[in-house]
Amino acid sequence: MSSQDHTIPYNKPFIVGKELYNIAQAVIEAHLSGDGPFTKRCHQWLEEQLNCRKALLTNSCTAALEMAAILCDIKPGDEVIMPSFTFVSTANAFVLRGAVPVFIDIRPDTLNLDEKKIVQAVTPQTRAIVPVHYAGIPCEMDKISEIADEHHLYVIEDAAQALLSKYKDKALGTIGHLGCLSFHETKNIISGEGGALLINDDRFIERAEIIREKGTNRNRFLRGEVDKYTWVDIGSSFLPSELVGAFLYAQFEMAEKIISVRCKIFNKYYQLLKPFEDKGIIRLPYVEELNVCNGHIFYIILRSNDERTRLIDFLKGFGIYAIFHYIPLHSSPAGIKFGRTNGDLSNTECLSDRILRLPMYYEMSDNETDRVIEKITDFFG
Ligand SMILES: *Cc1c(COP(=O)(O)O)cnc(C)c1O
Repeated sequence: MSSQDHTIPYNKPFIVGKELYNIAQAVIEAHLSGDGPFTKRCHQWLEEQLNCRKALLTNSCTAALEMAAILCDIKPGDEVIMPSFTFVSTANAFVLRGAVPVFIDIRPDTLNLDEKKIVQAVTPQTRAIVPVHYAGIPCEMDKISEIADEHHLYVIEDAAQALLSKYKDKALGTIGHLGCLSFHETKNIISGEGGALLINDDRFIERAEIIREKGTNRNRFLRGEVDKYTWVDIGSSFLPSELVGAFLYAQFEMAEKIISVRCKIFNKYYQLLKPFEDKGIIRLPYVEELNVCNGHIFYIILRSNDERTRLIDFLKGFGIYAIFHYIPLHSSPAGIKFGRTNGDLSNTECLSDRILRLPMYYEMSDNETDRVIEKITDFFG
């Protein structure tokens, strides 16, 4: 095959190189269960880089969301407001506690939940709002926090895609009461499976440690604060092995570089596809001026579902894999069973039908981005 027709995947996990070295060190030191030296360095890194009160690694963002639901004492019949345009875990974590996800529409510009549609969805049963920072692009957090304060609601940020993105000068995941990150291999910074809970309100810290350690006060015991440890609350095994922490720490050390490379690809796509937006053929991601985006996803929005299908097939013919995202939760079998909608979700429905995510990964070469852009140009030409 010539370099002209090699395949361009949608995503390619990036290994920085020091992961195995760190894992070997953890093996030699024989601390393999959770919360060893590497996990602690990961916590410290997150707390310093994001300026957050307390960070705890978890097995996934899903696990962090489940912890958040427990910490907020979500109970059967409670309601939690969230977008329908998101991954299943955003809703599932609350359904597991017997709560009802209340799906509201997204903004057409950022594809994030529309803050203007939150208040009308609030009822006496509402306990929390879950903003999802889609593509690492920030939700309108000032407005969301203001509504939450007024109605005494918790804010739990699903920042799975948003590590090192910023809303104004604050890291995403550190603005709500709790924030949840993902290090799944499809995200920017990875550990295979993995995540973190960011705790931005001190009153949650002690209980979070207990919930994460199977409902025991083992952390207090390890710090010498109690002379034996015992079962004190509900919980589960939410903490990852030290091998995951060892892998992840290697990635953290390169995080800034990884994200700056992804942002370069994002900006190149943006600049070279802008003429098509100016002509009204496609729409591009929108990031407000004061905010910083981490280059997680570059998407375009086509004029119709049919046009999207044709473009996917056209690109595939040249070995280029572009994919779409999210069957809206409110129209999924479990979403219908466990959730309900508030207001009309027309943006969710028509945008999820037309969004297309372009290939994006750290090792993507200039040649490869050029080819993707060239083929998109051919398609519209
Ligand atoms: C990836 C993702 C999750 C789930 O993350 P895991 O670490 O795989 O559990 C949750 N929410 C959103 C918005 C995601 O993109």
